[in-house]
Amino acid sequence: MTAIAFPAPDAGILARRDAIVAGLAALLPAESLVESSDERRVFETDGLTAYRRQPLAVALPSTTEQAAAVMKYCHDNGVPVVARGAGTSLSGGAIPQEDAVVIGLGKMSRILSIDYANRVARVQAGVTNLAITGAVAADGFFYAPDPSSQLACTIGGNIGMNSGGAHCLKYGVTTNNVLGATVVLNDGTVVEIGGDHLDSEGYDLLGLMHGSEGQLGLITEATVRILRAAEGARPVLFGFDTSEEAGAATAAIIASGIIPVAIEFMDKPAIDICEAYAKAGYPLDVAALLIVEVEGSDEEMDAQLRKIVAIAKQHGVKVVKESQSAMEAALIWKGRKSAFGATGRIADYICMDGTIPTGQLPLVLRRMDEIVKRHGLRVANVFHAGDGNLHPLILYNCNDPVEQAKAEEAGNEILKLCVDVGGCLTGEHGVGIEKRDLMTHQFNKVDLDQQMRARAAFDPGWLLNPAKVFPLEGRVSG
Ligand SMILES: Cc1cc2nc3c(=O)[nH]c(=O)nc-3n(C[C@H](O)[C@H](O)[C@H](O)COP(=O)(O)OP(=O)(O)OC[C@H]3O[C@@H](n4cnc5c(N)ncnc54)[C@H](O)[C@@H]3O)c2cc1C
Repeated sequence: MTAIAFPAPDAGILARRDAIVAGLAALLPAESLVESSDERRVFETDGLTAYRRQPLAVALPSTTEQAAAVMKYCHDNGVPVVARGAGTSLSGGAIPQEDAVVIGLGKMSRILSIDYANRVARVQAGVTNLAITGAVAADGFFYAPDPSSQLACTIGGNIGMNSGGAHCLKYGVTTNNVLGATVVLNDGTVVEIGGDHLDSEGYDLLGLMHGSEGQLGLITEATVRILRAAEGARPVLFGFDTSEEAGAATAAIIASGIIPVAIEFMDKPAIDICEAYAKAGYPLDVAALLIVEVEGSDEEMDAQLRKIVAIAKQHGVKVVKESQSAMEAALIWKGRKSAFGATGRIADYICMDGTIPTGQLPLVLRRMDEIVKRHGLRVANVFHAGDGNLHPLILYNCNDPVEQAKAEEAGNEILKLCVDVGGCLTGEHGVGIEKRDLMTHQFNKVDLDQQMRARAAFDPGWLLNPAKVFPLEGRVSG
Protein backbone atom coordinates (compact mmCIF):
# COMPACT_ATOMS: atom_id res chain seq x y z
CA MET A 1 0.00 0.00 0.00
CA THR A 2 1.35 3.41 -0.89
CA ALA A 3 0.07 6.76 0.27
CA ILE A 4 0.75 8.95 -2.75
CA ALA A 5 -1.78 8.57 -5.58
CA PHE A 6 -0.87 8.36 -9.26
CA PRO A 7 -3.51 9.23 -11.86
CA ALA A 8 -5.22 6.11 -13.21
CA PRO A 9 -3.56 5.20 -16.54
CA ASP A 10 -5.55 6.01 -19.67
CA ALA A 11 -6.97 2.65 -20.78
CA GLY A 12 -7.21 3.91 -24.37
CA ILE A 13 -3.46 4.60 -24.47
CA LEU A 14 -2.64 1.22 -22.91
CA ALA A 15 -4.81 -0.48 -25.57
CA ARG A 16 -2.88 1.35 -28.32
CA ARG A 17 0.54 0.42 -26.93
CA ASP A 18 1.64 -1.72 -29.92
CA ALA A 19 0.74 1.04 -32.37
CA ILE A 20 2.51 3.67 -30.28
CA VAL A 21 5.66 1.55 -30.02
CA ALA A 22 5.56 1.05 -33.79
CA GLY A 23 5.14 4.79 -34.30
CA LEU A 24 8.15 5.53 -32.10
CA ALA A 25 10.19 2.79 -33.79
CA ALA A 26 9.76 4.62 -37.08
CA LEU A 27 11.43 7.71 -35.57
CA LEU A 28 14.41 6.18 -33.78
CA PRO A 29 17.26 3.73 -34.41
CA ALA A 30 16.36 0.30 -32.97
CA GLU A 31 18.85 0.64 -30.10
CA SER A 32 17.19 3.89 -28.99
CA LEU A 33 13.81 2.40 -28.18
CA VAL A 34 13.30 0.34 -25.02
CA GLU A 35 10.12 -1.62 -25.11
CA SER A 36 10.51 -5.07 -23.49
CA SER A 37 9.09 -5.31 -20.00
CA ASP A 38 12.42 -6.40 -18.49
CA GLU A 39 14.28 -3.43 -19.92
CA ARG A 40 11.53 -0.95 -19.07
CA ARG A 41 11.90 -1.94 -15.40
CA VAL A 42 15.18 -0.04 -15.31
CA PHE A 43 13.14 3.15 -15.70
CA GLU A 44 10.27 2.39 -13.30
CA THR A 45 11.55 4.39 -10.31
CA ASP A 46 14.15 6.96 -9.27
CA GLY A 47 15.66 8.07 -5.93
CA LEU A 48 12.20 7.79 -4.30
CA THR A 49 12.34 4.02 -4.49
CA ALA A 50 9.19 3.35 -2.46
CA TYR A 51 7.17 4.19 -5.59
CA ARG A 52 7.42 2.64 -9.03
CA ARG A 53 5.46 2.43 -12.28
CA GLN A 54 6.55 0.77 -15.53
CA PRO A 55 6.36 3.18 -18.49
CA LEU A 56 4.69 2.41 -21.82
CA ALA A 57 8.05 2.66 -23.62
CA VAL A 58 11.37 4.48 -23.30
CA ALA A 59 12.91 6.62 -26.05
CA LEU A 60 16.63 7.36 -25.87
CA PRO A 61 17.29 10.04 -28.51
CA SER A 62 20.83 10.91 -29.56
CA THR A 63 19.99 14.29 -31.10
CA THR A 64 17.63 17.22 -30.55
CA GLU A 65 15.95 16.32 -33.86
CA GLN A 66 15.16 12.79 -32.65
CA ALA A 67 13.91 14.16 -29.33
CA ALA A 68 11.70 16.65 -31.18
CA ALA A 69 10.25 13.92 -33.40
CA VAL A 70 9.34 11.83 -30.32
CA MET A 71 7.81 14.84 -28.54
CA LYS A 72 5.72 15.69 -31.62
CA TYR A 73 4.56 12.09 -32.01
CA CYS A 74 3.48 11.90 -28.35
CA HIS A 75 1.74 15.29 -28.59
CA ASP A 76 -0.13 14.35 -31.77
CA ASN A 77 -1.21 11.04 -30.24
CA GLY A 78 -2.14 12.36 -26.80
CA VAL A 79 0.55 10.33 -25.00
CA PRO A 80 2.09 11.69 -21.75
CA VAL A 81 5.87 12.18 -21.64
CA VAL A 82 8.24 11.99 -18.67
CA ALA A 83 11.73 13.44 -19.17
CA ARG A 84 14.51 11.55 -17.43
CA GLY A 85 18.16 12.33 -16.81
CA ALA A 86 19.92 9.91 -14.44
CA GLY A 87 16.81 9.18 -12.36
CA THR A 88 18.36 10.33 -9.07
CA SER A 89 15.43 12.55 -8.08
CA LEU A 90 14.61 12.12 -4.40
CA SER A 91 11.09 13.50 -4.79
CA GLY A 92 9.90 11.02 -7.42
CA GLY A 93 10.21 13.58 -10.23
CA ALA A 94 11.34 11.03 -12.81
CA ILE A 95 8.99 8.17 -11.84
CA PRO A 96 6.85 7.47 -14.89
CA GLN A 97 3.20 6.54 -15.10
CA GLU A 98 2.04 3.43 -16.99
CA ASP A 99 0.59 5.35 -19.94
CA ALA A 100 3.65 7.58 -20.45
CA VAL A 101 6.67 7.45 -22.73
CA VAL A 102 9.91 8.18 -20.89
CA ILE A 103 12.42 10.24 -22.87
CA GLY A 104 15.85 9.47 -21.40
CA LEU A 105 18.73 11.85 -22.16
CA GLY A 106 21.46 9.28 -21.39
CA LYS A 107 22.78 9.19 -24.97
CA MET A 108 23.11 12.98 -25.12
CA SER A 109 26.07 13.32 -22.78
CA ARG A 110 28.66 15.27 -24.76
CA ILE A 111 30.41 18.50 -23.89
CA LEU A 112 30.02 20.42 -27.14
CA SER A 113 32.35 23.39 -26.60
CA ILE A 114 34.34 25.19 -23.91
CA ASP A 115 34.95 28.93 -24.19
CA TYR A 116 37.41 30.05 -21.49
CA ALA A 117 37.52 33.63 -22.77
CA ASN A 118 33.81 34.02 -22.05
CA ARG A 119 33.73 31.44 -19.23
CA VAL A 120 30.97 29.30 -20.68
CA ALA A 121 30.57 25.71 -21.82
CA ARG A 122 27.91 24.31 -24.12
CA VAL A 123 26.78 20.81 -23.13
CA GLN A 124 24.15 18.25 -24.03
CA ALA A 125 21.48 17.83 -21.36
CA GLY A 126 22.49 14.26 -20.45
CA VAL A 127 26.04 15.19 -19.45
CA THR A 128 26.71 14.51 -15.79
CA ASN A 129 27.24 17.44 -13.45
CA LEU A 130 30.72 16.27 -12.46
CA ALA A 131 31.80 15.71 -16.08
CA ILE A 132 31.57 19.46 -16.69
CA THR A 133 34.05 20.23 -13.92
CA GLY A 134 36.07 17.22 -15.06
CA ALA A 135 36.44 18.76 -18.51
CA VAL A 136 37.74 22.13 -17.27
CA ALA A 137 39.48 21.35 -13.96
CA ALA A 138 42.92 20.88 -15.47
CA ASP A 139 42.70 24.47 -16.76
CA GLY A 140 41.77 25.80 -13.30
CA PHE A 141 38.00 26.14 -13.83
CA PHE A 142 34.90 24.46 -12.37
CA TYR A 143 31.12 24.30 -12.67
CA ALA A 144 29.84 25.50 -9.31
CA PRO A 145 26.55 23.75 -8.31
CA ASP A 146 27.60 20.47 -6.71
CA PRO A 147 24.74 18.16 -5.73
CA SER A 148 26.07 15.19 -3.74
CA SER A 149 24.76 13.04 -6.62
CA GLN A 150 27.00 14.92 -9.07
CA LEU A 151 28.81 11.80 -10.27
CA ALA A 152 25.51 10.56 -11.76
CA CYS A 153 22.96 13.36 -12.08
CA THR A 154 22.64 15.27 -15.36
CA ILE A 155 22.53 18.96 -16.16
CA GLY A 156 19.02 18.49 -17.61
CA GLY A 157 17.86 17.00 -14.30
CA ASN A 158 19.69 19.77 -12.41
CA ILE A 159 17.75 22.38 -14.39
CA GLY A 160 14.53 20.39 -13.98
CA MET A 161 14.94 20.51 -10.19
CA ASN A 162 16.99 23.73 -9.89
CA SER A 163 19.47 21.66 -7.93
CA GLY A 164 21.88 22.91 -5.32
CA GLY A 165 24.74 21.50 -3.30
CA ALA A 166 27.16 22.18 -0.48
CA HIS A 167 28.97 25.00 -2.30
CA CYS A 168 25.84 26.84 -3.46
CA LEU A 169 25.93 29.05 -0.35
CA LYS A 170 28.50 31.20 -2.14
CA TYR A 171 27.92 30.40 -5.81
CA GLY A 172 24.14 30.06 -6.04
CA VAL A 173 22.11 27.14 -7.34
CA THR A 174 21.60 25.89 -10.90
CA THR A 175 19.51 28.86 -12.03
CA ASN A 176 22.41 31.18 -11.16
CA ASN A 177 24.84 29.15 -13.27
CA VAL A 178 22.96 28.39 -16.50
CA LEU A 179 22.81 31.01 -19.24
CA GLY A 180 20.87 29.38 -22.04
CA ALA A 181 19.13 26.21 -23.18
CA THR A 182 17.74 24.45 -26.21
CA VAL A 183 14.23 23.28 -25.35
CA VAL A 184 11.90 20.99 -27.26
CA LEU A 185 8.34 22.10 -26.62
CA ASN A 186 5.39 19.81 -26.17
CA ASP A 187 4.51 19.80 -29.90
CA GLY A 188 8.07 19.19 -31.08
CA THR A 189 8.95 22.83 -31.76
CA VAL A 190 12.58 23.58 -30.85
CA VAL A 191 13.29 26.92 -29.15
CA GLU A 192 16.42 28.62 -27.86
CA ILE A 193 16.04 30.48 -24.59
CA GLY A 194 18.59 32.67 -22.84
CA GLY A 195 21.96 32.86 -24.56
CA ASP A 196 25.63 32.76 -23.64
CA HIS A 197 25.51 35.97 -21.62
CA LEU A 198 23.95 37.02 -18.33
CA ASP A 199 20.43 38.48 -18.25
CA SER A 200 18.78 38.00 -21.63
CA GLU A 201 16.20 40.56 -22.65
CA GLY A 202 12.46 39.81 -22.54
CA TYR A 203 10.68 37.49 -20.15
CA ASP A 204 12.93 35.26 -18.04
CA LEU A 205 11.79 32.00 -19.63
CA LEU A 206 15.10 30.42 -18.67
CA GLY A 207 14.32 31.15 -15.02
CA LEU A 208 10.93 29.51 -15.52
CA MET A 209 12.56 26.34 -16.86
CA HIS A 210 14.53 25.98 -13.62
CA GLY A 211 12.53 23.83 -11.26
CA SER A 212 9.89 23.10 -13.92
CA GLU A 213 10.36 19.33 -13.40
CA GLY A 214 9.93 18.34 -17.05
CA GLN A 215 6.53 20.07 -17.27
CA LEU A 216 7.38 22.92 -19.66
CA GLY A 217 9.56 21.17 -22.24
CA LEU A 218 12.49 18.85 -22.81
CA ILE A 219 15.92 20.45 -22.41
CA THR A 220 18.40 18.97 -24.88
CA GLU A 221 21.35 21.37 -24.56
CA ALA A 222 22.49 24.02 -22.10
CA THR A 223 25.07 26.79 -21.87
CA VAL A 224 26.58 26.86 -18.38
CA ARG A 225 28.91 29.24 -16.58
CA ILE A 226 32.33 27.94 -15.69
CA LEU A 227 34.23 29.73 -12.96
CA ARG A 228 37.90 30.17 -12.15
CA ALA A 229 38.81 27.97 -9.16
CA ALA A 230 39.95 29.82 -6.02
CA GLU A 231 43.61 29.90 -5.05
CA GLY A 232 42.96 27.60 -2.12
CA ALA A 233 40.11 26.10 -0.08
CA ARG A 234 40.04 24.84 3.50
CA PRO A 235 37.23 22.88 5.15
CA VAL A 236 37.21 23.17 8.95
CA LEU A 237 35.30 20.96 11.42
CA PHE A 238 33.44 22.59 14.31
CA GLY A 239 32.05 20.17 16.94
CA PHE A 240 29.30 21.16 19.42
CA ASP A 241 27.62 19.51 22.41
CA THR A 242 24.12 20.24 21.09
CA SER A 243 22.44 20.66 17.71
CA GLU A 244 20.91 23.91 18.95
CA GLU A 245 24.39 25.39 19.54
CA ALA A 246 25.49 24.39 16.03
CA GLY A 247 22.28 25.85 14.59
CA ALA A 248 22.74 29.08 16.54
CA ALA A 249 26.40 29.35 15.43
CA THR A 250 25.32 28.94 11.78
CA ALA A 251 22.66 31.62 12.14
CA ALA A 252 25.21 33.95 13.78
CA ILE A 253 27.84 33.41 11.04
CA ILE A 254 25.29 34.24 8.35
CA ALA A 255 23.92 37.20 10.35
CA SER A 256 27.46 38.60 10.69
CA GLY A 257 27.65 38.99 6.90
CA ILE A 258 30.40 36.40 6.36
CA ILE A 259 29.62 34.10 3.44
CA PRO A 260 31.81 31.01 3.57
CA VAL A 261 31.72 28.71 0.53
CA ALA A 262 29.80 26.11 2.53
CA ILE A 263 28.34 25.49 5.97
CA GLU A 264 27.19 21.89 6.28
CA PHE A 265 25.57 20.38 9.37
CA MET A 266 25.56 16.80 10.71
CA ASP A 267 23.95 15.55 13.89
CA LYS A 268 25.33 12.64 15.95
CA PRO A 269 23.63 9.81 13.99
CA ALA A 270 24.86 11.34 10.72
CA ILE A 271 28.40 11.81 12.07
CA ASP A 272 28.56 8.16 13.15
CA ILE A 273 27.13 6.88 9.85
CA CYS A 274 29.45 8.99 7.67
CA GLU A 275 32.57 8.38 9.77
CA ALA A 276 32.02 4.61 9.70
CA TYR A 277 31.84 4.79 5.91
CA ALA A 278 34.42 7.42 4.94
CA LYS A 279 36.91 7.48 7.89
CA ALA A 280 36.93 11.23 7.41
CA GLY A 281 38.35 12.10 10.84
CA TYR A 282 35.08 13.53 12.20
CA PRO A 283 35.09 13.92 16.03
CA LEU A 284 32.83 11.25 17.58
CA ASP A 285 32.47 12.88 21.02
CA VAL A 286 30.25 15.74 19.83
CA ALA A 287 26.49 15.91 19.24
CA ALA A 288 26.65 18.11 16.15
CA LEU A 289 29.23 19.01 13.55
CA LEU A 290 29.57 21.92 11.15
CA ILE A 291 31.84 21.69 8.12
CA VAL A 292 32.69 25.26 7.23
CA GLU A 293 34.73 25.82 4.08
CA VAL A 294 36.50 29.06 3.28
CA GLU A 295 38.50 29.80 0.15
CA GLY A 296 40.92 32.33 -1.29
CA SER A 297 44.57 33.12 -0.55
CA ASP A 298 46.05 31.88 2.76
CA GLU A 299 45.68 35.41 4.21
CA GLU A 300 42.02 35.63 3.15
CA MET A 301 41.22 32.21 4.56
CA ASP A 302 43.02 32.97 7.85
CA ALA A 303 41.12 36.25 8.24
CA GLN A 304 37.71 34.66 7.58
CA LEU A 305 38.45 31.72 9.85
CA ARG A 306 39.49 33.97 12.75
CA LYS A 307 36.04 35.63 12.64
CA ILE A 308 34.19 32.31 12.25
CA VAL A 309 36.09 30.68 15.13
CA ALA A 310 35.29 33.68 17.36
CA ILE A 311 31.57 33.33 16.57
CA ALA A 312 31.66 29.57 17.12
CA LYS A 313 33.30 30.12 20.52
CA GLN A 314 30.45 32.44 21.53
CA HIS A 315 28.14 29.48 20.84
CA GLY A 316 30.08 26.92 22.87
CA VAL A 317 32.13 25.16 20.18
CA LYS A 318 33.97 22.19 21.69
CA VAL A 319 36.23 21.03 18.84
CA VAL A 320 37.81 23.04 16.02
CA LYS A 321 39.78 20.94 13.55
CA GLU A 322 41.33 22.32 10.37
CA SER A 323 42.21 20.01 7.50
CA GLN A 324 46.00 19.77 7.26
CA SER A 325 46.34 18.46 3.72
CA ALA A 326 44.50 18.15 0.42
CA MET A 327 43.86 14.49 1.26
CA GLU A 328 42.27 15.36 4.63
CA ALA A 329 40.11 18.00 2.94
CA ALA A 330 38.99 15.49 0.31
CA LEU A 331 38.08 12.97 3.03
CA ILE A 332 36.02 15.57 4.90
CA TRP A 333 33.98 16.15 1.73
CA LYS A 334 33.85 12.47 0.87
CA GLY A 335 32.19 11.81 4.24
CA ARG A 336 29.63 14.57 3.74
CA LYS A 337 28.86 13.82 0.11
CA SER A 338 28.47 10.09 0.77
CA ALA A 339 25.97 10.71 3.57
CA PHE A 340 22.89 9.47 1.72
CA GLY A 341 24.62 6.37 0.34
CA ALA A 342 26.21 5.63 3.72
CA THR A 343 22.80 5.93 5.40
CA GLY A 344 21.39 3.53 2.83
CA ARG A 345 23.82 0.90 4.15
CA ILE A 346 21.99 0.74 7.49
CA ALA A 347 18.32 1.50 6.71
CA ASP A 348 15.79 2.67 4.16
CA TYR A 349 15.19 6.39 4.41
CA ILE A 350 13.18 9.24 3.01
CA CYS A 351 15.01 12.51 2.68
CA MET A 352 13.11 15.71 3.36
CA ASP A 353 14.19 18.97 1.74
CA GLY A 354 12.46 21.87 3.49
CA THR A 355 14.17 25.23 3.70
CA ILE A 356 13.87 27.67 6.59
CA PRO A 357 15.24 31.09 7.50
CA THR A 358 18.59 30.30 9.16
CA GLY A 359 17.53 32.17 12.31
CA GLN A 360 14.92 29.44 12.90
CA LEU A 361 17.46 26.59 12.87
CA PRO A 362 17.67 26.00 16.65
CA LEU A 363 13.86 25.89 17.03
CA VAL A 364 13.24 23.71 13.97
CA LEU A 365 15.99 21.21 14.86
CA ARG A 366 14.35 20.71 18.28
CA ARG A 367 10.84 20.40 16.85
CA MET A 368 11.96 17.95 14.11
CA ASP A 369 13.45 15.69 16.75
CA GLU A 370 10.17 15.74 18.70
CA ILE A 371 8.12 14.92 15.57
CA VAL A 372 10.25 11.95 14.56
CA LYS A 373 10.38 10.55 18.12
CA ARG A 374 6.58 10.86 18.45
CA HIS A 375 6.28 8.57 15.41
CA GLY A 376 8.69 6.08 17.01
CA LEU A 377 11.29 6.55 14.27
CA ARG A 378 14.95 7.58 14.02
CA VAL A 379 16.38 10.48 12.07
CA ALA A 380 19.84 11.45 10.84
CA ASN A 381 20.28 15.10 9.96
CA VAL A 382 22.81 16.17 7.35
CA PHE A 383 22.14 19.37 5.46
CA HIS A 384 23.15 22.69 3.93
CA ALA A 385 22.90 24.75 7.12
CA GLY A 386 24.17 27.99 5.59
CA ASP A 387 21.20 28.04 3.20
CA GLY A 388 18.78 26.80 5.86
CA ASN A 389 18.14 23.83 3.54
CA LEU A 390 17.31 20.88 5.80
CA HIS A 391 17.74 17.21 4.88
CA PRO A 392 16.41 15.08 7.73
CA LEU A 393 16.84 11.45 6.67
CA ILE A 394 13.95 9.59 8.31
CA LEU A 395 14.97 5.98 8.76
CA TYR A 396 12.37 3.22 8.27
CA ASN A 397 11.88 -0.28 6.92
CA CYS A 398 10.43 -0.17 3.41
CA ASN A 399 9.05 -3.71 3.83
CA ASP A 400 6.79 -2.51 6.65
CA PRO A 401 3.86 -0.48 5.22
CA VAL A 402 2.91 0.84 8.68
CA GLU A 403 6.42 2.17 9.23
CA GLN A 404 6.48 3.66 5.72
CA ALA A 405 3.22 5.50 6.43
CA LYS A 406 4.64 6.80 9.73
CA ALA A 407 7.83 7.97 8.00
CA GLU A 408 5.82 9.80 5.35
CA GLU A 409 3.56 11.37 7.97
CA ALA A 410 6.57 12.53 10.01
CA GLY A 411 8.09 13.95 6.81
CA ASN A 412 4.89 15.82 5.99
CA GLU A 413 4.78 17.32 9.49
CA ILE A 414 8.38 18.48 9.16
CA LEU A 415 7.73 20.12 5.79
CA LYS A 416 4.63 21.88 7.13
CA LEU A 417 6.75 23.10 10.06
CA CYS A 418 9.26 24.55 7.57
CA VAL A 419 6.48 26.46 5.79
CA ASP A 420 4.97 27.60 9.11
CA VAL A 421 8.26 29.19 10.28
CA GLY A 422 8.54 31.18 7.04
CA GLY A 423 10.35 28.66 4.82
CA CYS A 424 9.31 26.41 1.96
CA LEU A 425 8.70 22.77 1.04
CA THR A 426 11.74 22.26 -1.13
CA GLY A 427 15.18 23.83 -1.31
CA GLU A 428 16.62 21.76 -4.13
CA HIS A 429 15.01 18.31 -4.57
CA GLY A 430 11.84 19.58 -6.23
CA VAL A 431 8.19 18.82 -5.55
CA GLY A 432 7.81 15.66 -7.64
CA ILE A 433 5.07 13.38 -6.38
CA GLU A 434 6.47 13.45 -2.86
CA LYS A 435 5.41 17.00 -1.95
CA ARG A 436 2.71 17.48 -4.59
CA ASP A 437 -0.17 17.21 -2.14
CA LEU A 438 1.52 19.60 0.30
CA MET A 439 1.59 22.44 -2.24
CA THR A 440 -1.75 23.66 -0.87
CA HIS A 441 -0.03 24.19 2.50
CA GLN A 442 2.47 26.55 0.87
CA PHE A 443 0.23 28.30 -1.69
CA ASN A 444 -3.39 29.43 -1.65
CA LYS A 445 -5.68 28.49 -4.56
CA VAL A 446 -5.24 31.81 -6.38
CA ASP A 447 -1.44 31.49 -6.35
CA LEU A 448 -1.47 27.83 -7.38
CA ASP A 449 -3.96 28.49 -10.20
CA GLN A 450 -1.70 31.23 -11.57
CA GLN A 451 1.28 28.85 -11.60
CA MET A 452 -0.83 26.31 -13.48
CA ARG A 453 -1.87 28.95 -16.02
CA ALA A 454 1.82 29.65 -16.72
CA ARG A 455 2.32 25.90 -17.14
CA ALA A 456 -0.69 25.68 -19.47
CA ALA A 457 0.93 28.16 -21.87
CA PHE A 458 3.50 25.40 -22.54
CA ASP A 459 1.35 22.31 -22.13
CA PRO A 460 -2.41 22.93 -22.10
CA GLY A 461 -3.20 19.20 -22.38
CA TRP A 462 -1.22 18.18 -19.24
CA LEU A 463 0.92 15.74 -21.22
CA LEU A 464 4.32 16.64 -19.72
CA ASN A 465 5.10 14.80 -16.47
CA PRO A 466 1.46 15.24 -15.44
CA ALA A 467 1.47 13.33 -12.14
CA LYS A 468 3.84 15.79 -10.48
CA VAL A 469 4.05 19.18 -8.74
CA PHE A 470 0.35 20.18 -8.68
CA PRO A 471 -2.32 18.31 -6.66
CA LEU A 472 -4.40 16.03 -8.90
CA GLU A 473 -7.64 17.76 -7.88
CA GLY A 474 -8.54 21.24 -9.13
CA ARG A 475 -6.13 21.45 -12.03
CA VAL A 476 -6.26 24.49 -14.30
CA SER A 477 -5.65 24.16 -18.05
CA GLY A 478 -5.66 27.73 -19.21
C1 LIG B 1 22.57 10.24 -3.15
C2 LIG B 1 21.86 11.46 -3.65
C3 LIG B 1 22.32 12.71 -3.29
C4 LIG B 1 21.67 13.86 -3.75
N1 LIG B 1 22.14 15.08 -3.40
C5 LIG B 1 21.56 16.19 -3.89
C6 LIG B 1 22.08 17.48 -3.57
O1 LIG B 1 23.08 17.62 -2.85
N2 LIG B 1 21.45 18.55 -4.11
C7 LIG B 1 20.37 18.43 -4.94
O2 LIG B 1 19.84 19.44 -5.40
N3 LIG B 1 19.86 17.23 -5.24
C8 LIG B 1 20.42 16.11 -4.76
N4 LIG B 1 19.91 14.89 -5.09
C9 LIG B 1 18.70 14.80 -5.93
C10 LIG B 1 18.97 14.65 -7.45
O3 LIG B 1 20.25 14.12 -7.68
C11 LIG B 1 18.79 15.98 -8.17
O4 LIG B 1 17.43 16.36 -8.14
C12 LIG B 1 19.27 15.94 -9.64
O5 LIG B 1 19.25 17.23 -10.20
C13 LIG B 1 18.45 15.03 -10.53
O6 LIG B 1 19.15 14.88 -11.74
P1 LIG B 1 18.85 13.64 -12.69
O7 LIG B 1 19.67 13.77 -13.90
O8 LIG B 1 19.00 12.37 -11.93
O9 LIG B 1 17.33 13.92 -13.03
P2 LIG B 1 16.01 12.96 -12.93
O10 LIG B 1 15.97 12.41 -11.56
O11 LIG B 1 16.13 11.98 -14.05
O12 LIG B 1 14.91 14.00 -13.21
C14 LIG B 1 14.65 15.03 -12.29
C15 LIG B 1 13.51 15.91 -12.82
O13 LIG B 1 13.97 16.68 -13.92
C16 LIG B 1 13.22 16.38 -15.09
N5 LIG B 1 14.18 16.30 -16.18
C17 LIG B 1 15.27 15.49 -16.26
N6 LIG B 1 15.93 15.73 -17.39
C18 LIG B 1 15.26 16.70 -18.04
C19 LIG B 1 15.45 17.35 -19.28
N7 LIG B 1 16.48 17.07 -20.07
N8 LIG B 1 14.55 18.30 -19.66
C20 LIG B 1 13.50 18.61 -18.86
N9 LIG B 1 13.27 18.01 -17.68
C21 LIG B 1 14.15 17.07 -17.27
C22 LIG B 1 12.53 15.06 -14.81
O14 LIG B 1 11.31 14.92 -15.52
C23 LIG B 1 12.30 15.15 -13.31
O15 LIG B 1 11.14 15.89 -13.05
C24 LIG B 1 20.53 13.73 -4.61
C25 LIG B 1 20.08 12.46 -4.99
C26 LIG B 1 20.74 11.34 -4.52
C27 LIG B 1 20.22 10.00 -4.96
